[in-house]
Amino acid sequence: MKVSFLGTGNSISNHNRKNTSLILQSTNSILIDCSGNPIQAAMQSGINPDSISDVILTHNHVDHIYAIPSLVHQMYLLHLSSKRAPFRFIGNKSTLDIVHKLLKAFNLLQRKGIFEIEFIEVPKQGISIQREEYRIKLFPVNHVWTDCFGCKFLSEDGKSIVYSSDTEPTNNLVKESQGIDLLVHECSTFTQNKLKGHTSFSEILELTSQISSKRIRLVHLPKIENDLQYIIDNKLNDLFGNLVQLAYDGEVLEI
Ligand SMILES: [Zn+2]
Repeated sequence: MKVSFLGTGNSISNHNRKNTSLILQSTNSILIDCSGNPIQAAMQSGINPDSISDVILTHNHVDHIYAIPSLVHQMYLLHLSSKRAPFRFIGNKSTLDIVHKLLKAFNLLQRKGIFEIEFIEVPKQGISIQREEYRIKLFPVNHVWTDCFGCKFLSEDGKSIVYSSDTEPTNNLVKESQGIDLLVHECSTFTQNKLKGHTSFSEILELTSQISSKRIRLVHLPKIENDLQYIIDNKLNDLFGNLVQLAYDGEVLEI
């Protein structure tokens, strides 16, 4: 399993972190949240954008979904004279309602010759989905103002990745993160100020004693000045070696 970090920043992007989104690379790649320019970011990570078959949208906040019309439009233009496989959006009802409205606003659902677009609704209690190479489990987490789910990917060869999406520390996430190969967890602040519905760096340090993941990468990161970055990297290295690290845009991890 190969995961590419297309973006690792929080809802405000900065000079070296775009909004958080990931791609699970395979014959059929899975885009997880949709921000920035996913086609360009995929190419920069050496991924053929045509391989994206599924887009998982963890919740309806703007920084996780705003690039959808552009993604579909570019896919459409790339396939004016060729056929593309159906494209699936996976999300909860409120998120899919917005996706539908966005695509309708840009007249992207009825374009002549556009590929088939499917919508898979995730119920409040979560869902398990079998995709070609993966079993995907989507489970509720505790964000703010809206329902949100975390994602677990299990490959046929027994590898596993969990992505927290936006959440404060939750039992569900701790439960799903036992014995996995990689946990991608949000870390929205490095100060003592608690952000409702998010996880702080000190909470991440507490979480590490409750889970057993071989690696942890932190995403949804705020702007970090160079001197603070140095302090954080050193602290993580002292405490965990290379177990826990800040992820960076363009990073590719082979699991
Ligand atoms: Zn959010």
